[in-house]
Parts: sequence; C-alpha cells; structure tokens
Amino acid sequence: MFALMYIKFMENSYCVICGAPCLLNRKTCSQRCHEIYMAKMEREFGKYKKVVDVVTGKTHKVSIRYILEHGLKWSELKDFPEWEE
Ligand SMILES: [Zn+2]
Repeated sequence: MFALMYIKFMENSYCVICGAPCLLNRKTCSQRCHEIYMAKMEREFGKYKKVVDVVTGKTHKVSIRYILEHGLKWSELKDFPEWEE
C-alpha cells in the first residue's frame, strides 16, 4: 500500500538519477537511468510489495518494478501470486 501512495508524490520533470530534464511525469531521462533507478528502489523498498485486495482480502506479491513501470490496477491484482509468509 505504501508503494502505491509513494508513486503519487514522485511526479516531476527532472531525472531522479542524473537530474537532466525529462518528460513530465517521467522519473528518468533514459533507459540507463531507469535501470539504475529500478535497482535503487528495489534496494530501498524491497523487490516485492505486499498489496492487499480489499475485495477478496487476499494479499498479493507484486514486484515493485511492475508497479513503477506500469502502475497497478485493482483488476490486475488477481494475476499476481498470493503472498506467503
Ligand atoms: Zn538521467
């Protein structure tokens, strides 16, 4: 849940890695910076996030890369494996 909220606060038009200007709502300016950024996010927040489906009550294991690259819709949650402790 934290990851989804976090994304909303990251809108800017400068590359978060090298500071170069980039398209509005883009986090990075290039594929290279994107990969560095993904590795950094995985290190800081973990490779996977627990995301609870409020309708079914099930907890799913979603990669943070997927969330950052595609965003996450509720309808897609069922396609991710359930989180096992
Ligand atoms: Zn960059």
